[in-house]
Amino acid sequence: MNAPEPAVTAAATRPMPHVLNTYGRLPFALSHGQGCWVWDTAGRRYLDGLGGIAVNTLGHAHPKLVPALQEQVARLMHCSNYYQVPLQEQLAAKLCEISGLDGAFFCNSGLEANEAALKIARKFGHDKGIARPEIIVYEKAFHGRSIATLSATGNPKVQAGFGPLVEGFVRVPLNDLAAVEAVARSNPNVVAVFLETIQGEGGVNPARWEYLQGLRALCDRQDWLLMLDEVQCGIGRTGKWFAHQWAGISPDVMPLAKGLGSGVPIGALVTGPRALNVLGPGNHGTTFGGNPLAMRAGVETLRICEDDGLLANAAGVGAALRDGLARELAGLGGVREIRGAGLMIGIELDRPCGVLLARAAEAGLLISVTADSVIRIVPPLILTADEAAQIVALLCPLIKAFLAEST
Ligand SMILES: *Cc1c(COP(=O)(O)O)cnc(C)c1O
Repeated sequence: MNAPEPAVTAAATRPMPHVLNTYGRLPFALSHGQGCWVWDTAGRRYLDGLGGIAVNTLGHAHPKLVPALQEQVARLMHCSNYYQVPLQEQLAAKLCEISGLDGAFFCNSGLEANEAALKIARKFGHDKGIARPEIIVYEKAFHGRSIATLSATGNPKVQAGFGPLVEGFVRVPLNDLAAVEAVARSNPNVVAVFLETIQGEGGVNPARWEYLQGLRALCDRQDWLLMLDEVQCGIGRTGKWFAHQWAGISPDVMPLAKGLGSGVPIGALVTGPRALNVLGPGNHGTTFGGNPLAMRAGVETLRICEDDGLLANAAGVGAALRDGLARELAGLGGVREIRGAGLMIGIELDRPCGVLLARAAEAGLLISVTADSVIRIVPPLILTADEAAQIVALLCPLIKAFLAEST
């Protein structure tokens, strides 16, 4: 395939003084990929169980996506929002068709989509005469790293050192409808409920379907916006286009990002009728947002997911992967739970297991560990049953050895 680039190889072996030290990185660099496989600059091959953190929906170098993006790069990449952008209309129409919602705003990342959601919630409140609107958010939530989205995030580690945080948030535990009802009785300033349908960074914690149905009814009763962050669990990952569709409900506001562009940076905010006209000209914007390159990546990603049956694949291969893990790990004392939906899977251990990230990479498998003790698998939606079996075969011996040595 592609020849490794010598400059990249050299840089990867040196410290990188010009890149700020904000990530704990593994000591290798990836050079190229094909399908669910990637190669590092030393020529070692890895099975990609992480998909760039739920981003590479179509894997790497997808044979339908690559020529479409090449064509778009050669045609028009960026033109600003001073003009009509037909590809925005096209992607908005598709997102509305598959979500049943009514409109979309485009930006460049998950936190940007969430910022837009928070602004809509506040303006929705102001429009109905609430001067200090408040938003219900969740323990263990993750919504991004900007000042407002990290204030909504329910993780003291992410927030430490960045106070004062943005006010106007009320925090509740997940899957406890009584806690939200108590806020409804005591706080007249609440305008919205904001949660991930399946918490990602917080440890792959799904909102129960009955809980989502309860929230939907409560939001209708209270005239609140139900805002579901599907940045990580959306775009087919759970086997439906959007995870909340399993519960048979619809949100008023839905931020999207990660998997929507299969690797091209993109964010979107999709809204139902109650949030559709809250923002008007001049209320919100972004220079890069909705540019033709990102829009084409979104249009093609959704088209290929549909044409190639990738939702059904995520559901089927995901179930096989979970079954395989459950079979291999059955009876192991240190394994608390295997959970998730489709190709969004978390394996919770009874102890911190961050070291498994490097060990899995050494064994030729890319995964992540989140919330200290949850192994997270979010591979491309093109994963085959055989590749799922390979994930099980690579990962389970590492988990067993780790649990044996640390008891
Ligand atoms: C990753 C993530 C975000 C933040 O997205 P960025 O593109 O990193 O800003 C927000 N919400 C959820 C649920 C996420 O998983």
